Amino acid sequence: MEGGGLRFPLGSAGTSDADGPALPPTGKRVVDPRLLEAPVDSLPGVGRILAGRFASIGISTVGDLLLHLPFRHEPPSRLCPVAALHEGETATVRVRVRSCSVRSARRRNLKILEAVVSDDSGAIVAVWYNQAYLEEAFSSRPELLIRGALARRAGPVRFVVQSHEILSDHEGGLHTLGLVPVYPATGDISVRVIRGAVARAKDLAVHLVDPVPSRILAARRYPAKRDAVLACHFPATEREARVARNRLAFEELLLLQIALLKRRQREQQHPACAIGPPGGLSRRFLEALPFLPTSAQRKVMAEVDGDLTAGRPMLRLLQGDVGSGKTMVAVYALLRAVESGGQAALMAPTEVLADQHALRLAESLEEMGIRMGLLKSSLPASVRRDVTAGLASGELSVVVGTHALIQDGVDFRDLRVAVIDEQHRFGVRQRDALRASMGSHTRPHVLHMTATPIPRTLSLTLYGDLDISTLDELPPGRTPVRTRLVQPDRQPRAWQFIRDRLTAGEQAYVVCPLIEEGDSAQEFAATSVYAKLRHGELEEYRLGLLHGALPSAEKQTAMMDFAEGRTQVMVATTVIEVGIDVPNATVMAILGARRFGLSQLHQLRGRVGRGERSSYCLLFLDEAEEDPDERLTLFASTTDGFKLAEADLRLRGEGHMFGDKQSGYGDLRVARLLYDQTLLVEARKEAAALLVSDPRLEGATEALLAAASSERFGMVEHWLDKA
Ligand code: ADP
Ligand code: MG
Repeated sequence: MEGGGLRFPLGSAGTSDADGPALPPTGKRVVDPRLLEAPVDSLPGVGRILAGRFASIGISTVGDLLLHLPFRHEPPSRLCPVAALHEGETATVRVRVRSCSVRSARRRNLKILEAVVSDDSGAIVAVWYNQAYLEEAFSSRPELLIRGALARRAGPVRFVVQSHEILSDHEGGLHTLGLVPVYPATGDISVRVIRGAVARAKDLAVHLVDPVPSRILAARRYPAKRDAVLACHFPATEREARVARNRLAFEELLLLQIALLKRRQREQQHPACAIGPPGGLSRRFLEALPFLPTSAQRKVMAEVDGDLTAGRPMLRLLQGDVGSGKTMVAVYALLRAVESGGQAALMAPTEVLADQHALRLAESLEEMGIRMGLLKSSLPASVRRDVTAGLASGELSVVVGTHALIQDGVDFRDLRVAVIDEQHRFGVRQRDALRASMGSHTRPHVLHMTATPIPRTLSLTLYGDLDISTLDELPPGRTPVRTRLVQPDRQPRAWQFIRDRLTAGEQAYVVCPLIEEGDSAQEFAATSVYAKLRHGELEEYRLGLLHGALPSAEKQTAMMDFAEGRTQVMVATTVIEVGIDVPNATVMAILGARRFGLSQLHQLRGRVGRGERSSYCLLFLDEAEEDPDERLTLFASTTDGFKLAEADLRLRGEGHMFGDKQSGYGDLRVARLLYDQTLLVEARKEAAALLVSDPRLEGATEALLAAASSERFGMVEHWLDKA
C-alpha cells in the first residue's frame, strides 16, 4: 500500500483494494429514494449476503453506509496518455488489453499477471501481482482504467498496477481516478465493495438531516451536512476532504457535549442540602493537621465550599497527581457534612485502601466524637447488619467502604456528602449507580477524586458532566522519585542498594510482575517472589506479603505491619497500586516492569516519594535489552503524570481510556480526541452557549440538535435517567 495520500485520523486499518471483485453492474433502482432508513440491500448490486456482511460492520441502512466514512484517500491520480507516463509517478491510463499471460516468479511464491495494454499514444506492459484470476476476465480484451506507476525492476520498464477497473462496469473511475476513498473494512467485505455501495447511495445524501444550526455553520464556514458527507467520500481536492471531515468531527463532538451538559443540567435539577458555612469540626481538623495545606488544597476546599452551599448537588472531579494530598480535601468535605448535621461516605476501589482510610480517619474522628463505620463485602453478616443499621438510623455519621456501599440494602438517614476516591477504578456505570442509590429526594454532594491525570480533552469527554478541580501543586519538600532501569546483570547491585536503604531504616516495596490477565497468576508470582527473597537477597530483613486473594484480616494485618514498621519490605501485587500511603517507604522495585502499563507504573511509583527523603523506583527487566523500551525510558525521564498520560494515550490509543464501552462515550466515529483537541474545546463552548440561551433546547433548530444528540449519545443520558 502506498505511503502518501490524504489520511484522516481514523484508527482502523483498511484492506488493500488491489483485489476483490467490484459490485456487479445492475439496472436495479433504489426502492425508495427518500428513505435513508432503507436497508442496504435496497441498493442496486447489494444482495442479502452482502447486506449480512455490512451488518457485521455495523451498517444496516443506507444512512449508516453514507456515514461510514473513509479514513484516507489514495494519492490523487489523473488520467494520462500512455506516452506521457513518467517513471515513478502515479497516474491512471485508459487502455485496452492486447494480450495477457501469467507466470510464476522463481524466487518467491508469486504469480505475476502481465498484460500488454495500449491506447492511441502507445503500448506498455502492465503487471499485477498475485491476481492470476484476472486472466480470464482479460481474455475478452476489455478496456480498462488502471492506476499505478511505471517502474523498472530488473528488466524493462513496466507499469505496476495498484488498482484497475474494467470499463464495462458502470463505476468508471471510482477505483482509479482522483482521490479514491479507502474505508475501514474487514476481511469479509472489500474496500471496493464499500466504495461501490457508497457511490450508489450517494444521491441519497441530500436527505441527510443537518443538526448543526446554520448560524454555527456560517460562523465556522462549514459546508452543509450533505455536502460534507459527499466531500468526505469523493472530494475534489484534499482541502475539501479535510474541511468536510473536520466539520463532521465537530458535529459529533457538539452532540456529545450537548448530551453531557444536558445530563449535568438534569442532575442539578435535583435539590441537595445546602450546607452552611464551615463550622467547628472542619476548623478543628485543619488546625490539628501536622502541616499547612498547600495553596492548591486551599483553592480546592474553597471550590468545594462553593458547591456545598449552593443547594444543588456538587458534581466535582478532583484531579491531583499521586501524592498531591487529595485525602485531606476529602476529609474536609466529609466533615463539612457532619458538622451540618448530616452523614458522609468515603468510597474506595479496594479493601486495602478502604482499610487504610478507615484506620487513618478513625483516629481523628474519634477525638472529635464522631462515629464511623466500615463497610466492605468481606464483613461477617452481623457486623454488616450493625453498620447498615447505624447508617439507616443516623447513629453513624461517617462510613468508609468499598463498592459494598452502593449495594442494595444500604440506606442512609441523611447522606449529604459522598467522596469517591480513585474514581477511575470504578467505571462510569458504578459512578452513576452511586449517584442514583445514595440519594432519595435530595441528592448527596459528590466529590470524585482521581490520580490518573487525564489530558484535558479527555476529561471534557469522560467527565464532561463534572466540574473539574485540579491539585496542581505537590506538598513542599518532596524530591522527585529517581527512576532507573535495571538490566539483569545489574540486579545484584540493585538488591544491594535496597539492602542499604533498609539498613538505614527505610522501607521498600517489591511489586511482582503481571504474569497474565487474571489475579491468581499474579498472586502466585507474589507468593513465590516472597519465598525466594526471604531465603535469598533479603533474608536478613522482615518481609510482608500482600495480594488480593489473602483473607481480609490478613491483608489488614500485612498493611498495618508495614505502615507501623514491623515489616521492612512489602512484597505485593498491584493491590498497592492505589492510595497506599507509607511515607517511610523510599524504594520501589518493580519486577518484570515491561509488563505494566504506563499509567499503572505511574500509580505504583506514587507509593514512594511521599516523605522528605530521596526515593527510588527500580524497574527490573526480565531480559537484557539492547535498546530500551520507549515507554520505560520515557517513564524514567519524567514524573509528570500529565506528560505520561498523554504519552500513554498516544502509544496505546484512546480506546482503552474509555473502559466501559457501553457507556456510550467510547464510540466516537469521526472525531479523535488527541487530534481534535481544539475542535473539542470549541464544541464544548458552543454547547454551553446553546444551553445558556435556550436551556431546554426548545427552539426549532435547538430541538433538532437535542434530538440528534440523544439519538447519537442517548446512552449517556440513559445512565442518568435510571436514577
Ligand atoms: P494522594 O493525592 O495521592 O491521595 P495523599 O492525600 O495520600 O495523596 O497525600 C500524600 C502524603 O502527603 C500524605 O502522607 C499526606 O499526609 C501528605 N500531605 C498532604 N498534604 C500535605 C501538605 N499540605 N503538606 C505536607 N504534606 C502533605
Ligand atoms: Mg489517595
